[in-house]
Amino acid sequence: MILSLRPMPLILLVITTCAISNAQVKPGRDPNQPIDEEYTKKIREYTTAPHFNSPLTDYLPASPNVPTPKAVLGDIAGAPGKLPYAEEVYRYMRMLERASPRVKVYSIGTTEEGREMIAVAVASEKLLAKLDENHARLAKLADPRTINMDDAEADKLVAASFPIYYITGTIHSVETGAPTALMELAYRLAVDDSAYVKNIRDNVVTLITPVVEVDGRNRMVDIYNWHLAHPNENWPSLIYWGHYVAHDNNRDAIGLSLKLTRNVLNTYLTWKPQVLHDLHESVPYLYDNTIGDGPYNAWVDPILTDEWQMIGWNNVSEMTKFGMPGVFAHGNFDTWSPGYLMFIAATHNGISRLYETFGNGGADTLERTLSPSEYQRTWYRQNPPLPKAKWSQRNNNNYEETALLTSLTYFGNNSKLFLKNFYLKGKRSIEKPKNEGPAAYVLPGDEVRAGNQAELLRTLQGQGVEISRATAPFTVTVKAKKPEPGADRGPSSARASAAATATPTASPSASATPSATPATRQFPAGSYIIRMDQPYSRTADALLDYQYWAPNDPQQDIYDDTAWTMGELANVEVVRITDPKVLGAAMERITSEVRSPSGINSSGTVYLVNHNADNALVTLRYRLKNVEMEAAEEPFEAAGHKFNRGSFIIRKASESDLKRVSDELGIQVYGVADAPSVKTHPVRVARVALMHTWLSTQDEGWYRLGLDQLQVPFSYISTQDAAKDANLRSKYDVIVLAPVGRGSAAIINGQPMYGNPIPWKTTSLTPNIGKIDATDDMRPGLGWSGLENLQKFVRDGGVFITVDDTTDLAVTYGFTPGVSVTRSTRLRAVGDILRMKTVDSTSPIAYGYGDSLAMYCSNGPIFNISNIVGGRVGRGQREGRGTGRGTPDDPDVPQGRPPAEIPEPPPKTEVWEAAPIPEEQRRNALGIIPPAQRPRVVVRYADNRDLFVSGLLDGGDEIAQHAAVIDVPSGNGHVILFSTNPFWRGQTKGSYFLLFNAILNFDNLNAGRKLDTK
Ligand SMILES: [Zn+2]
Repeated sequence: MILSLRPMPLILLVITTCAISNAQVKPGRDPNQPIDEEYTKKIREYTTAPHFNSPLTDYLPASPNVPTPKAVLGDIAGAPGKLPYAEEVYRYMRMLERASPRVKVYSIGTTEEGREMIAVAVASEKLLAKLDENHARLAKLADPRTINMDDAEADKLVAASFPIYYITGTIHSVETGAPTALMELAYRLAVDDSAYVKNIRDNVVTLITPVVEVDGRNRMVDIYNWHLAHPNENWPSLIYWGHYVAHDNNRDAIGLSLKLTRNVLNTYLTWKPQVLHDLHESVPYLYDNTIGDGPYNAWVDPILTDEWQMIGWNNVSEMTKFGMPGVFAHGNFDTWSPGYLMFIAATHNGISRLYETFGNGGADTLERTLSPSEYQRTWYRQNPPLPKAKWSQRNNNNYEETALLTSLTYFGNNSKLFLKNFYLKGKRSIEKPKNEGPAAYVLPGDEVRAGNQAELLRTLQGQGVEISRATAPFTVTVKAKKPEPGADRGPSSARASAAATATPTASPSASATPSATPATRQFPAGSYIIRMDQPYSRTADALLDYQYWAPNDPQQDIYDDTAWTMGELANVEVVRITDPKVLGAAMERITSEVRSPSGINSSGTVYLVNHNADNALVTLRYRLKNVEMEAAEEPFEAAGHKFNRGSFIIRKASESDLKRVSDELGIQVYGVADAPSVKTHPVRVARVALMHTWLSTQDEGWYRLGLDQLQVPFSYISTQDAAKDANLRSKYDVIVLAPVGRGSAAIINGQPMYGNPIPWKTTSLTPNIGKIDATDDMRPGLGWSGLENLQKFVRDGGVFITVDDTTDLAVTYGFTPGVSVTRSTRLRAVGDILRMKTVDSTSPIAYGYGDSLAMYCSNGPIFNISNIVGGRVGRGQREGRGTGRGTPDDPDVPQGRPPAEIPEPPPKTEVWEAAPIPEEQRRNALGIIPPAQRPRVVVRYADNRDLFVSGLLDGGDEIAQHAAVIDVPSGNGHVILFSTNPFWRGQTKGSYFLLFNAILNFDNLNAGRKLDTK
């Protein structure tokens, strides 16, 4: 879409567009406009009870030249048995565009699988003719700096402007009603001459993306059609929605990893709508969860939270008057995380909204029985849903359209208020440094991980955040804190003043103690400055700041992750600066994508690449797959630089190839005459397999996405493939089993074998299915043969990587002697960020990391380590002396014999260590694990007082100090256990390299290992 930004003459600005704003018009048809009798009859037929409809949707106006949805569907919107593919929805929208001057269709991008996404604008001819000039005004309101923050000028712009309300449908593919509801809504807005609808189209541009998850929609329609063709059989669950993830596609507004997020975000940033409203289905019958129940996201403007209440309550009120049961707001949605798609509007000075409606996961009409929690009356749900009712897709469409039409009416009638608020929120964002602060965030120019830093900054640029770069060093006041374990994040960090970084400690009061006297800090030239005096300052503030969710918060039903602090998860330093002096530093705005420095720095035929855990390094290795590379097993100095353990040494390579690739990837290479004399091992191009189940692919999807983004090739296999392949080692060096969320028994057993086979494959009936992976029957799992094949794979030298709940499979089924696992009973680490400590920095898995790292954690398994199979020796024994004579430090003295010599107590072992084996137990070595086969703890959870980084942590002592990443040698191979999840929602880029290190060093994971002497 191209909108002209040319400023319009003032004369045009003063012509107002809304003749009947604030009109209170009666909902219902215009008696002078004929209705489409047949269509209207079907609406009534498919609506299961009159109270499931409203005067807004119980008829369809007729048009002599504009086709109804029936033209494409062959029946009406919401008809039983009709789920259109995305392409059919688009075909209809384009028919509308051809037939009506009130409809325009815009292509807004493509999906991962190349399918189109569209946005449809519907409004009066008069408004559509003025889109460009209106856009120029909205752009000024969106960035009040352009009018010198002049309220009078803003008022003129508001008076002349009309607002835009952006609706998106079916981001969640199993929630199927929105596309037909939106087809019909577009028709109504274009055709209906009732005063009610005319008022909307004369005052508001309704922008509609009818299908957000296009790839998943088409798969869902395939499944539904398969179900219709096999009415008496069980049908496949929708194992794949989008190409990578399922439900999590609505958690991507932080990481911006998915195309649907980028396409909607870009549409939002281009069109500058005042509302972004997503349509979901899960709750009877219409839950406007926008208002939610708190804690609200702490970074949005309070004006917005008022707007949520205003629109939401009007919505409930209007539909209550229509007599429609089960319409409510509030509920228990907490509105904390900014990861939801709709939240793009919340963090960009718009209004985020979301409906949950009721659906049957397809277009069957069904008798639905609700649970008491769904139908009971509550204070916010005075007219609750019915305990039992027949429900149809048409009912769903009635509710969605009625709710949207009432919202559009309220919004249109108050358009000047919402446009003014839009301006005010932008203005207050720009005034942030003067008001609540901070003044800026700074990402230091001497960042250890310049590549990951650039990646983080590019993500912020994608959000429309402006980034500047210091052209000279500058000094500002920073919050001084006691040194904490996050301070040393990189082995080669020269950051002496890093102790000033803002990392809260376990005690929330600690950061507010009087000892936190201000200090100053100088940042070098080249430091990145994200000024808070910009329109989208709240976006950056919300994403870069720390989160604190009080364990005793009244909200105990936590909806999603409690933390997302981008700097911590990217393992790059981000400093929150409240000192307004930072805004006076010499700087220039960056106008292109942020890139990290690259190139070949010095001359010589041996090339060195420092291992700093920048993700681009793994891409470098795979892009130059025919070039031999080695990893240094110790740090060294060369070419005047310090190189970390794990740094690449390349003895023979084409300099032009190396330069081209390293420039592209933002990697610095150093040429030297001679290779450093340091112990090395080869860094081979490992053959990686990502193994999925047929139970759930959601979490492994983020692994696939991460590997694809970084161009690490991999084979995508299922547990069924592993079950059939007795020689996995011949094909793969590394097999990754990402979290599944179903437990080990389900991974092995699969789904019950009752009933018919459940195919997942491409057929003429299901053309969109089976492309990512296929099977004749989704039910069988890994099975005992698969377990055996995996164990043989490890014995034969393969590396098997398990994460979070899949570690249970490895531990329970004997892959990892010496490791036991317990699940927490008190710990509440609800999608938070915790501090890790490196235990063994010589392990290749830790290459490039410092002594500390923040990782995403969601109540991970608690590991205990032993040197004896099945044993937990030493722990649980009572410490200290027994009852007897003397002081606590004295020995007891039995009477009537000479005192006996008391042996030295066994050395104290740490929580993450195995207890030493008592001599008593060594007499028969049965069960004692040979030193070379003992678990090697690479990373552990920090001490309890240092554990908390961001989010909600309660009962942290239960997991504090326990091992978090363990390398267990087994036969010729290794099993690696992660308690934390290194690949989560495209947000945890700072921990990706723990996995990449395991991959790149798969055949040398024992490097640097010091074995127990006995
Ligand atoms: Zn949903």
